[in-house]
Amino acid sequence: MRTSHRDVATAVYRDYQELPISNCQLIKFAVISEEEARKKTLEVVRPLPARKLWISKSLDFFAAEDHFARLPLPAFDNSAMDGYAVMASSCKKGQRLRVISEQPAGFDRELSVSSGEAVRIFTGAPMPVGADAVIMQEDVTRDGDEIVINTDVEAGEFVRRRGCDLAEGQRILAKGERIRAATAALLASQGFTEVTVGDEVNASIISTGDELVKPGKKIKAGQIYDSNSPLLGALLQHCRAIVKSVEHCRDERESLIEAIKRGSENHILIISGGVSVGEHDLVKAALCDLGAQIDIWRVAIKPGKPFLFGHVPQSAPSPQSSPSGRERRTQSAGEGSVLGSECLVFGLPGNPVSAFVTFLQFVRPAILKMMGATDLDLPQMPAKLTVDLTNDSDRAHYIRGKLEHGRFTPVGRQESHALFGLSQSNALLRLALGQSLKAGDIVEVQIWD
Ligand code: AMP
Ligand code: MG
Repeated sequence: MRTSHRDVATAVYRDYQELPISNCQLIKFAVISEEEARKKTLEVVRPLPARKLWISKSLDFFAAEDHFARLPLPAFDNSAMDGYAVMASSCKKGQRLRVISEQPAGFDRELSVSSGEAVRIFTGAPMPVGADAVIMQEDVTRDGDEIVINTDVEAGEFVRRRGCDLAEGQRILAKGERIRAATAALLASQGFTEVTVGDEVNASIISTGDELVKPGKKIKAGQIYDSNSPLLGALLQHCRAIVKSVEHCRDERESLIEAIKRGSENHILIISGGVSVGEHDLVKAALCDLGAQIDIWRVAIKPGKPFLFGHVPQSAPSPQSSPSGRERRTQSAGEGSVLGSECLVFGLPGNPVSAFVTFLQFVRPAILKMMGATDLDLPQMPAKLTVDLTNDSDRAHYIRGKLEHGRFTPVGRQESHALFGLSQSNALLRLALGQSLKAGDIVEVQIWD
């Protein structure tokens, strides 16, 4: 059957009638692809200003500038063992050497060694002039002032040469790189006490839903415990964002408006639930009342289609006195740290797996970009698929599974409510629209654990 223009117009009109949107610029929201959603989100996100941090506090921040070596590593030729510093050319198995002095670590006594001589030396101590090898103490027999060598000796043995690990001036940390334990150690090895990093992201969470009860309280028929607040809190902490507030809000427009106002004092606000198309999904309406600009609503991703992204003025005025969102956005652009003095809003579908997947695909990259990271992707790894899989849905499908010993196996029910299955998984496999895979195929999986 053919569809006339009139039918389409009526369908669009009905669609808007069904949506609880009022007092809002009527943006035509088409379902967009994941790639487009990610691009649109990242276009809006700006890195936060850089700051200096003590190295001991810098783990998992991202460097805001390149850092270079001030010193070579090792900084001087030194011994890799407790033993005896010698001239290798004068050492043969069975030979006797005279021990002329001792060189401990920590103070260069500026000793020198000639043929037939040895200096007692300790790990990390500077090599005496003329010595080009160290014999381990286990490979000699001490006899008063002398040693007998029990092994052949080669030049360079057990000597750590100046600069063999790192040259002076070499880049030790690139802008946008994550600071890991070893990075912190490397910075300290150069005498740095501080490192310049992108600032951290302040986030707030609102879980919406009349059915939700806080864990610890008594539950009545028809109610469920709020599991998205801890889920999102943990995911935020995983990205090193600071969780400033966690609130539960009923499906009630005025309460939502007040909660969003409080939450939008931070860089980002994550709202769980209430972004779908039912009468109780009031997040869009509340955001529009506050003059928010909604950039994305609905993405071709499974689970997670109702995903929403927008931005709201941080000091949101009351709905009655507010001009349109677009006007206020222009007024505030250029101030503050993210997008003028605005708060980025991510509306995630309430089903736990949908919230999880959309957080990882859209919120995580935005947070990382704000913190100044270069690599915004989840770590990926090739794995052998253990079962046949086909995506016959209308969207890209993220399959939850277990990656173990290089093999990926889907776990649990692949539905958006199936929290237990999610809890048993450690990786995601993206099945593109219409894609079919066979057991034994090598696939790229995203690791989130
Ligand atoms: P919604 O996106 O609000 O339509 O919610 C979709 C489904 O997710 C419903 O079954 C909700 O009960 C459930 N849900 C919403 N919020 C939460 C939450 N915070 N914790 C657990 N389940 C939730
Ligand atoms: Mg709901």
